[in-house]
Amino acid sequence: MRIAIVGAGISSIAIAQNLKKIAAVSIFEKSRGVGGRMALRRSPPYEFDHGAQFFTAKGTNFKNFIKPLIKKNIIKRWDARFAEFIDNKILRIITWNAEYPHYVGAPGMNSIAQYLSKELNIKLNTKVNKIVRNTNNWELFDNNSNNLGRFDWVISTAPPIQSAEILPTYFKYHNDLLTRKMVGCFSLMLGFKKPISLLWDSALIRDADISWISINNSKPDRKQSFSMLINSTNAWAEDHLSDDPQSIITYLNNETSRIIGKDTSIAEHIDLQAWRYANISRQTKSDLLIDYDNRLASCGDWLTHGRVENAFEAGLMMAQKINKIIE
Ligand SMILES: Cc1cc2nc3c(=O)[nH]c(=O)nc-3n(C[C@H](O)[C@H](O)[C@H](O)COP(=O)(O)OP(=O)(O)OC[C@H]3O[C@@H](n4cnc5c(N)ncnc54)[C@H](O)[C@@H]3O)c2cc1C
Repeated sequence: MRIAIVGAGISSIAIAQNLKKIAAVSIFEKSRGVGGRMALRRSPPYEFDHGAQFFTAKGTNFKNFIKPLIKKNIIKRWDARFAEFIDNKILRIITWNAEYPHYVGAPGMNSIAQYLSKELNIKLNTKVNKIVRNTNNWELFDNNSNNLGRFDWVISTAPPIQSAEILPTYFKYHNDLLTRKMVGCFSLMLGFKKPISLLWDSALIRDADISWISINNSKPDRKQSFSMLINSTNAWAEDHLSDDPQSIITYLNNETSRIIGKDTSIAEHIDLQAWRYANISRQTKSDLLIDYDNRLASCGDWLTHGRVENAFEAGLMMAQKINKIIE
């Protein structure tokens, strides 16, 4: 049985890890690295997890999945001093601890996918553009019309709108894909020659156009210089996705200064990532989108909620279902 998976984020890795013993699994990823939105950007001497900031583990499946990775130091606890702001006022500061652990990949958020993908068959820099039906299987093509091979099953873990572009309109859940709305987010990355003195390492901001700040180098195993990652709110990003990047940088930087009461315009390194499909609110429909007749399927965090654990769970559930039919 040959299975093609579109995308190399955590949901894809969960599928591949669980099916690799009983099927020939090939993963195609359009970027030059694995991990998807569990991403790391290096700009020496600075580094930024510019996608997922941290994750928690609530369910047994995910707890069991991360256990060996914690043992191997691929996942570490981030005992950040966590501040809650209401606009520019600090409401409270607590320190995260073992009671309710907050985790990160180490030394970067992409370390988890990098480690787990070592024994997987992944083709990077390959954007799946089209899938074509043959009598008994599917043929995949990239955006240069190169033939990527023939497969019995195709599973897309791309965001729903992008999955809908790849999968044929007669995919049983095509309309479902079109109804799932992911929202955008900006990640502003600031690197400073000298550390800024702060009482906190991570901050949730309420009632403002920025929603989150991480001091990236406060995460475990980050030896780099003082680096600050700022997320806009999803609502603000949705209204400004097509704005000029410089105006977005200026606005978010000014907002950060105003809220934390420190001048962040002095950053020597400034970068911006616009995530068009960053997140999704909690979904009411969470049935797996598996079209058994056509041997097509699609999943990702967007099936239930835009969180790392949800992406993993979606991939695991998908693998368990496919496992049952090909065993
Ligand atoms: C700014 C930001 C902050 C976040 N913060 C948190 C947080 O603090 N905690 C938390 O739990 N979660 C957070 N998340 C969400 C978390 O990152 C996601 O839930 C999770 O990583 C999604 O994994 P996935 O495998 O479903 O999708 P993805 O990681 O998006 O993987 C999909 C992959 O498909 C690839 N792809 C798309 N189209 C194609 C194509 N045509 N051909 C080939 N490849 C393709 C993409 O490049 C990508 O690598 C955040 C996300 C963002 C963007």
